[in-house]
Amino acid sequence: MEQKPRVLVSKCIEFAACRYNGQKINSPEVRFLQPHVNFIPVCPEMEIGLPVPRDSIRLVQDESGTRLVNSETGEDHTEAMTSFRARFLDSLEGVDGCILKGRSPTCGIGNVKVYPSHGKVPQIHSKETGLFGKAVLERFPEIPVEDEGRLNNLRLREHFLTRLFTLHAFNLLKGSMGELVDYHSKNKYLFMSYSQKLLREAGKLTANHEHLPVKEVYTRYRLILSKMFDSLPRIQTNINVLQHLFGYVSKHITKQEKELFLDMLERYRELQIPLAAVTSLLQSWIVRFDTSYLAMQTYFQPFPKGLQSILDTGKGRV
Ligand code: SF4
Repeated sequence: MEQKPRVLVSKCIEFAACRYNGQKINSPEVRFLQPHVNFIPVCPEMEIGLPVPRDSIRLVQDESGTRLVNSETGEDHTEAMTSFRARFLDSLEGVDGCILKGRSPTCGIGNVKVYPSHGKVPQIHSKETGLFGKAVLERFPEIPVEDEGRLNNLRLREHFLTRLFTLHAFNLLKGSMGELVDYHSKNKYLFMSYSQKLLREAGKLTANHEHLPVKEVYTRYRLILSKMFDSLPRIQTNINVLQHLFGYVSKHITKQEKELFLDMLERYRELQIPLAAVTSLLQSWIVRFDTSYLAMQTYFQPFPKGLQSILDTGKGRV
């Protein structure tokens, strides 16, 4: 198992000027991630032999199903793409996450336009997934898969990074109960911010009162993790966690400091400041009062520090 997460990425995002128009997509999120992950760039359209530049292609839906065709001529690339994606995805050994080009008829994982035919005709709708993106979603239901446009959004990006690095850390465990208990303990407040119910279920598993074989415990724990990250943590669950953590340090701080914290909590509730602003304040007290159990909590740093600096910028699509 590699020490860095392996992330499949559409090659036209930062890696090569391989779009139909000979251009490359600029993505600061992917650029900043480069030192922290091992990227696996792929351009499925080039892999099936299409040149750069090339005519654009599109999804066409008719009585024969959904096909990938040349927008001008109608030349059909469905079979070539279907065969490439199966071959390629079969050959991949362990992937922890994917970042795919949004809205592409090949790589898109949603919001892809569909037409009734090639040529100058209006679209039918724009809710489809691309031919390659669809296969990725089906093949890897447990890992984070995002389109690069959505990563501009702070909450979506934090969720993606949290899921990526937390699942990768789980995959690095060697399979002992001790390691799992330790992992669970470090992630307790992070999991609480996602789901109290699943946190309890995971806790019960690590206690293993049923004396299940360790392998079975890991399998069940992985399923809980997968459910845990199915949706974004809510503002209110984060506030509950922050209040809970505040309880550990509140008796040591001044009245003014308490007021400052409560004020920041309200501003976070109103989405005027990011979560990181409130957790940083809490962390400063945790360091000051040497609260070592809290200091090791991944809730404060669920992904590498170097990625934090870009987390207060974009406002992309949700
Ligand atoms: S969206 Fe996918 S297929 Fe299209 S250029 Fe980018 S990597 Fe290639």
